[in-house]
Amino acid sequence: MKMTKNKSAPRKKIVVLGSTGSIGENVLRVVERFPDRFQIIGLAAQRQAEKLLQQAERFNVKKIAVGARESAADLAPPHGISILRGSEGLEELAAMKEADMIVVAVVGMAGLKPVLAALKRGADVALATKEVMVVAGEHVVRARKKSGAAILPVDSEHSAIFQCLENRPRNQVGKIILTASGGPFAGRGKIDFDRVSIAEVLKHPRWNMGKKVTVDSATMMNKGLEIMEAQWLFDMPPEKIEVLVHPESIVHSFVEFVDGALLAQLSPSDMRFAIQYALTWPERLDGGLPPLKLSELGALHFSMPDEKRFPCLALARQAAGDGGTMPAVLNAANEVAVHEFLRGRISFSAIWRIVEKIMSKHKAAKNPGLDEIIQADHWAREEAKKLIVS
Ligand code: MG
Repeated sequence: MKMTKNKSAPRKKIVVLGSTGSIGENVLRVVERFPDRFQIIGLAAQRQAEKLLQQAERFNVKKIAVGARESAADLAPPHGISILRGSEGLEELAAMKEADMIVVAVVGMAGLKPVLAALKRGADVALATKEVMVVAGEHVVRARKKSGAAILPVDSEHSAIFQCLENRPRNQVGKIILTASGGPFAGRGKIDFDRVSIAEVLKHPRWNMGKKVTVDSATMMNKGLEIMEAQWLFDMPPEKIEVLVHPESIVHSFVEFVDGALLAQLSPSDMRFAIQYALTWPERLDGGLPPLKLSELGALHFSMPDEKRFPCLALARQAAGDGGTMPAVLNAANEVAVHEFLRGRISFSAIWRIVEKIMSKHKAAKNPGLDEIIQADHWAREEAKKLIVS
């Protein structure tokens, strides 16, 4: 019997893409709790080059990448730190041969090529960027199967499902039930979605997240994207993935098995729980996170989502059903619309009207290659921008 932990066990070498965002910062907080377990060997961000440099110095990282070239234009790194620039820089970090795990937490499509590069090399991927699975799930799954590497979900719902499933055969799974906080507008009376302000939309009741995902949470597009993320991560048809509104965000999702048993994973709504499990998997370690006190909560609530009020859910189901390039089109049109909403140029309800319009103009290509997916993404962005300008 092994009595003591092998102190000289090598540390897991980790690259974090998107380290300056809210998920990235929490990844670093988790890493800091386990200095004898983890070592950061690469850090990347799209922008915020100065903050990235500070992180590199704090974690003694020698290699960093800045995705947006202009953000790193006049950055003078201190001695010993090398800077890669542009999207190729992110890919190069993702393919570092010393890396055991790549954490991908950049926003949107920027995560796609790095995920594929990491899997190709055989590194595990801790995935927070759900868009990668939404737009190119089939490609990513194929790359993972070929490499034998693991994809560890960082999205709280998918981490919960991953923990409940524990690799059981799919024929034992009846359905997946994704919980949704519902955002700031679920459960409230009649609201004029043409007139809600940016500030109201950004006031998320439970989670403290980046702006894009907070808006997606308010439209419930976030849950729509998560249906597609779950579809590919867990090899489940979208019709076996349900959504349940759960305003407390304590139950992070359920798996219903064919024998009728319902398993769930519960924890406080703090993203470090999912991040830590992705990093320590298959182990569970004490990282000092506070466990739930159920008696203080008293009650938890669940209800069906109102798909009439939140049309993004139905749009996402439609995109999942169409498959091919349609999810990429939905995602791209949504990204543009959310961006324009945050700039104050369109109303909240225009977000789903734009997504619907662009989807209706697109004929989904079946079994698209990566180039076709990227083309569909570009096309949808251009069309959405045209629609907003006109
Ligand atoms: Mg989530």
